[in-house]
Amino acid sequence: MAIQSPDRATAAPVTNDLAARAPEALRPLYHVDDALQPLYETIADCPNCILARTRSRTVPGSGPVTADLMFVGEAPGQREDELGLPFVGRSGQFLDELLAGIGLTRRDVYVTNVVKCRPPSNRDPEPAEITACGDYLEQQIAMIQPKVIATLGRFSMARWFPNAKISRIHGQTKRLGDDRYVIPMYHPAAALRNGSLREVMHADFAKITPLLRGEPLTSPTASPAPSEGAPNLNAPSAGAPTPPAPPTGSQSGSLL
Ligand code: SF4
Repeated sequence: MAIQSPDRATAAPVTNDLAARAPEALRPLYHVDDALQPLYETIADCPNCILARTRSRTVPGSGPVTADLMFVGEAPGQREDELGLPFVGRSGQFLDELLAGIGLTRRDVYVTNVVKCRPPSNRDPEPAEITACGDYLEQQIAMIQPKVIATLGRFSMARWFPNAKISRIHGQTKRLGDDRYVIPMYHPAAALRNGSLREVMHADFAKITPLLRGEPLTSPTASPAPSEGAPNLNAPSAGAPTPPAPPTGSQSGSLL
């Protein structure tokens, strides 16, 4: 039962009806494993930040709870808000292309965002919204236990690489504990705006396959070495990521 509030829109949970109306290619993405269902239902009723007032429906994530590879993007857009699925617009189409390049499909991976509700007019998520939604991401990571977390864009990157610049560290890996890696990537929308990033993203995606096999890269190749004061990407860090330093000064819609 949704918690009613006079000052927010009631979230429309993902339903079989919604899946039936969705394009056929997307319908398999509506499957939710039993282990994830209670969390999805909690998110569907979440009133914890201002985005609850304007969303059409929550977008908790898609993919199997057994996925070894997890993508964490920024926030749902208009199409995602309509369909209740992450990365189903043009960015999602490019994500599908990138996955195909390494022999995977959306059904092989888990995809979510740092906030589960669409910011109005596709503005950047605010630090308070990312913080409010952070526990859901933590629960997803705890349940899925991915071998590799690929961040898409600077907002999810900031969760594991505070104050880093994506142009400097994309494609470089960082160990999280003994058996998990995080690899920052550009957001697919950035490559749609700047075509030169398409090949960069394909090259960064190619680094995922050895990580999934447990073969960490020994030397970064796609980016300049981090300068003094930049994060040491090869040093193991605690398994639980540190909450992000709130991104500041961001431009609306900027994914770099
Ligand atoms: S963005 Fe996250 S914290 Fe905010 S209302 Fe949606 S689910 Fe809740």
